[in-house]
Amino acid sequence: MGGRLKVDLSPVETKPLAMSEELEVSAARLDADVVAETVRVRLDLVIRRRDEAFDLDGEMAVSGDLLCSRCLEPVAWHSTEAFQLTLATERPEALNDREDDVELAEEDLDVVYLAGDKLDLEELAAEQILLALPMRVTCKDDCAGICPTCGGNRNIAGACHCEPQGDPRWEALRDLRSAGS
Ligand SMILES: [Zn+2]
Ligand SMILES: [Zn+2]
Repeated sequence: MGGRLKVDLSPVETKPLAMSEELEVSAARLDADVVAETVRVRLDLVIRRRDEAFDLDGEMAVSGDLLCSRCLEPVAWHSTEAFQLTLATERPEALNDREDDVELAEEDLDVVYLAGDKLDLEELAAEQILLALPMRVTCKDDCAGICPTCGGNRNIAGACHCEPQGDPRWEALRDLRSAGS
């Protein structure tokens, strides 16, 4: 990690910059509850100067393993997204004065504030991946999940031998037994 992923935007003063870059973003930089491992991402970017800022047109192709929200097994995920951002070279004066305006600006995901005319590709990728991540995934529609009693994966035959809890058929059997004794 280092210099390669920080793009100097000063050449964009005179002509648009088109670039494509492939990188990996660790699960730790993303949502560790959803992402299993490192996610691979390809970014295709065109950056143009506009007044005191830059316009960025981007496309992202991302792939990696997410965790099934029920059984925690990896689920292959890929997605392609197009996005437009404004890259601002500095925060507007007014935003430094008023707290509530600052909060509004930080919620505005379409504006990225640059540090010293350098665009951090890894940070850009991480933010775009977070926006693209599904809230939850399941390995299959009828994933049976993990047994709350023994922790076994109930999709795997033999991984859990617990007596089903609250199953009416067992309740009926228990009633029969107590009636006979
Ligand atoms: Zn599952
Ligand atoms: Zn069990």
